[in-house]
Amino acid sequence: MSVAAAAGAPAARLADASVLVIGAGALGCAAAEALAAAGIRRLTLVDYDRVERSNLHRQLLHRTADLGRLKVESARDALAARYPALVTAVAAVRFDAGNARDLVRGQTAVIDATDGIANKFLINDLVIGLRTPLVHAGIVRFQGQLMTILPGVSACYRCLFGAPPAAGSVPSCQEAGVLGSLAGTIGTLQAAEAIRLATGEGALLTDRLLTYDALATRFRQVKLRRNPACPTCAPLGDPLAATAGTG
Ligand SMILES: [Zn+2]
Repeated sequence: MSVAAAAGAPAARLADASVLVIGAGALGCAAAEALAAAGIRRLTLVDYDRVERSNLHRQLLHRTADLGRLKVESARDALAARYPALVTAVAAVRFDAGNARDLVRGQTAVIDATDGIANKFLINDLVIGLRTPLVHAGIVRFQGQLMTILPGVSACYRCLFGAPPAAGSVPSCQEAGVLGSLAGTIGTLQAAEAIRLATGEGALLTDRLLTYDALATRFRQVKLRRNPACPTCAPLGDPLAATAGTG
C-alpha cells in the first residue's frame, strides 16, 4: 500500500497496518516488541532458525526454556503473553524468490532483520521488486546502519552497495559478534520507521543512511541518491510518487 493511502487517525492506521519481519533474532525481537507495544495488531515473523544459548543475550524475546525451539514460535508466544490483541503469523522458512510474493502480499512494510550481507541483497531485490516499502538494517560488533526504501522513489540497498562482496569476505553478526544493546537500538529504530510508514506521520529515513557507532555513541547520516542504472529499482520508475506525497 502507499504511505498516504491510509486514512483516519494515526492510531487507527497503526491498528490496520501489517508488518512482515524477516528474521526473529536480535533485530527482529527488538523490532517486533516495539511494534507490538506501539499498537500494531498484525505481524508476520519469518525465520527457519532455532533458539541457541549464544543468542539469548541479544534476542530478547527468547528464554532459556526456549532453547531448541523455532525462533518464530518462541517469539510469537512471548509476544502473545504481553499483547493479547496482537495476531502474529509465523513462517519457519528461508525468505526467497519462491515464497516472497505470498509473504509480502498485503504488508504495509517489510523489516529486514536478518544477518549476513547476501540476505540483505536478496531481500532488497525481492521486496523492492514487489513494490513494498522496506526498512533495512545491519549490525555487527559495535556498528549499526539503517535506511528505509520506498520502491521506485528513494535509493535502495543495491543503489548504495551495488553487488555483494565475495562470500566470506565480510563477517556476519553471528561470526563477528554484536553488542546486544546495539541490536535493541537499531531494531527499535526499524520499528519506528515501520510506524511512520503505517501512519504517514513524520519524515522517513529515505535517501539517507543512518549509521550508529555504539562505542563512540555517535549517529551519522549519509545522503544517498538513486542509481539511475540500478538493476533493482531503476526499472520501477516512480510508481508511488503520484499517491505517496511523503517520499
Ligand atoms: Zn536501487
